[in-house]
Amino acid sequence: MSESGTADVIVLGAGIVGVSAAHAVRQRGLSVILVDRREPGSETSYGNAGVLSSGSIFAFNKPSLFSALPRYLTNRHAARRDPLWAVRNVDWLIRFLANATPSHVKPRAMALRDLIGASLRLHREWIVKSGAAARLRETGWLKAWRSDGIAAARAEQELLSEYGIRSEVLDREAISALEPNIMPAYKVGLLHTQTASVDSPGDVTKAYARMFAGSGGGIVQSDIKSIVPGADGWRVVLASGADAARQISAPHVVVALGPWSADLLRPLGYRVPLAFERGYHREFKPNPARSLHRPIHDAEGSFVMTPMENGIRVTSGVELTARDAPSSFAQLDAVVPLARGVVEFGEAVGEAWRGARPSLPDSLPMIGAAPRHSGLWLAFGHQHIGFTTGPGTGAAIAAMIGGASPSFDVAPFSPGRYL
Ligand SMILES: Cc1cc2nc3c(=O)[nH]c(=O)nc-3n(C[C@H](O)[C@H](O)[C@H](O)COP(=O)(O)OP(=O)(O)OC[C@H]3O[C@@H](n4cnc5c(N)ncnc54)[C@H](O)[C@@H]3O)c2cc1C
Repeated sequence: MSESGTADVIVLGAGIVGVSAAHAVRQRGLSVILVDRREPGSETSYGNAGVLSSGSIFAFNKPSLFSALPRYLTNRHAARRDPLWAVRNVDWLIRFLANATPSHVKPRAMALRDLIGASLRLHREWIVKSGAAARLRETGWLKAWRSDGIAAARAEQELLSEYGIRSEVLDREAISALEPNIMPAYKVGLLHTQTASVDSPGDVTKAYARMFAGSGGGIVQSDIKSIVPGADGWRVVLASGADAARQISAPHVVVALGPWSADLLRPLGYRVPLAFERGYHREFKPNPARSLHRPIHDAEGSFVMTPMENGIRVTSGVELTARDAPSSFAQLDAVVPLARGVVEFGEAVGEAWRGARPSLPDSLPMIGAAPRHSGLWLAFGHQHIGFTTGPGTGAAIAAMIGGASPSFDVAPFSPGRYL
């Protein structure tokens, strides 16, 4: 980064996706400025469940969504939708449902498997290099059924194995052996053995950002007002406090603004069909004698609980509504008693948190060049698995900027499919 605020590449957004892109570009020897109004890893990449999931290759809009539709439409499903939002966004919903048909399963699963595979390799490398290895747990994650979910667990295991993803079906005794401190709430479990987790996703993102800065990358904390194309590349207009009206410029700009990504693209003529699968978390004081060893996904309760550095984090399922609509803690309040029925924990620590999973209708992210502007790169829309897939996304963007081929096929993630 030069004194005048120019660089080869400016990355907008310091969530896991932007930090990963900035680091991967810097590793190729280019100068990089990373911009965010907050500290790295303070938004969606802070509040997630911390699962580095090998097996999240089947999108939320899969064929089984149709059988759940009557409950979903009447809001009797654990996932909620705001009826007014649904009316206003009926186009998005129709496209989302159109992607839930059987013909979409395999191509998406293969695309996500390769993106996830590349990402997990990088996470395992970067977490060591960034000095955050102690935050990584190679203990898998457990999906668990309260009812007799044996058929569902076996079916999921078989499906995952078709894509080379390993898992183990567990009965009640095996679950107790794995997690001796939980109550016998679950009859059946599916242990995703190649999945890992971290005890603070925000701190892992911060560690990657420090690694980037340590290699000569520049970090600017400022609101971004607009991005403007010019003859020699891009001007990024910053707007906050002392930075008011300051501009930085580069031949390449990467938009990695998570749920806010569509906002800065609209003035350039791109209408991104981005919706928000919002979710919440609350953390609770753990009982040291009742510790959890891995995240547990309660299949019927539709929540995840993860042992984190600051306590047990309970995360809720999907709430489809406007990104900035007021919070409703109903889903979180409904699942906390269920979680308490699995493991003992104390009172809440801190405030409840709300975030938005940025989602495109096919549940695949956009990774690649903007169709009508040279030097503009898009890296967002990672829905439920962005913490997992940030590094692979960043490395692919860096490769493309450098004129090289990414390590996996990025065609399914092409921005041109919607823009
Ligand atoms: C409840 C919940 C649980 C989840 N659990 C998991 C999980 O276990 N595993 C997993 O892989 N994924 C999980 N996810 C999904 C994952 O968290 C997201 O997909 C991922 O964090 C998105 O990262 P990002 O970098 O795209 O966005 P973000 O982390 O949101 O980063 C975007 C950044 O852009 C900045 N920004 C936006 N607009 C501006 C502007 N105008 N000026 C300056 N800065 C700006 C923001 O400050 C922010 O830092 C979960 C999500 C939720 C909500």
